[in-house]
Amino acid sequence: MRLLVVEDDPDLNRQLVAALTDAGYVVDAASDGEEGHFLGDSEPYDAVVLDLGLPLLDGVSVLEKWRRDGRNMPVLILTARDRWSDKVAGFDAGADDYVAKPFHMEEVLARIRALLRRNAGHATDEMQCGPLLVDTRGARVIIDGSAVKVTSLEYRLLAYLMHHKGRVVSRTELVEHLYDQDFDRDSNTIEVFIGRLRKKIGNDMIRTIRGLGYCLAEPDDAA
Ligand code: CA
Repeated sequence: MRLLVVEDDPDLNRQLVAALTDAGYVVDAASDGEEGHFLGDSEPYDAVVLDLGLPLLDGVSVLEKWRRDGRNMPVLILTARDRWSDKVAGFDAGADDYVAKPFHMEEVLARIRALLRRNAGHATDEMQCGPLLVDTRGARVIIDGSAVKVTSLEYRLLAYLMHHKGRVVSRTELVEHLYDQDFDRDSNTIEVFIGRLRKKIGNDMIRTIRGLGYCLAEPDDAA
């Protein structure tokens, strides 16, 4: 899953990017409202962490513009403590959740996980598909009750497919959601990672839909 962090405080920006990257997400960062708006408008993010007090363009305006233009990714806003009017303005502009500053990083991580899984229609952090379980809280992969060791990229790939279980996901979409904007993207590598994942979780979990992409589905479902 690919996230955008828009925060003008350099330390906080760095801490957010580091914590989210450690949690297994790919993260792009912006430090003002204009850059943040541009990135959110042009790149397909799975969720955004948006500070409200930003230079050049404030967070509420950024969010309003995204929503007006049909950008509907989940957005977690960062608000100043005790500024209830900020929260109301943020929700009115289209925010999905908020965290008040100063916050514990764990709370941001938990809220992002919840936004992502709710957006994908899952009620808990443990997402199941047949014998496969992906625990987005612990970044664990379990097949038939036993933990499977996966690399961070394999995890990202599998977590993305799990969040979109039952839907065909193209290689281009995977590349866009698994790498940050600076990465030299090559959609052929996706096939290599799919091959490695199949060796670890079994051949019948991830289907290749010729000419379209991949689909994670229950093994017994008729293909
Ligand atoms: Ca700020």
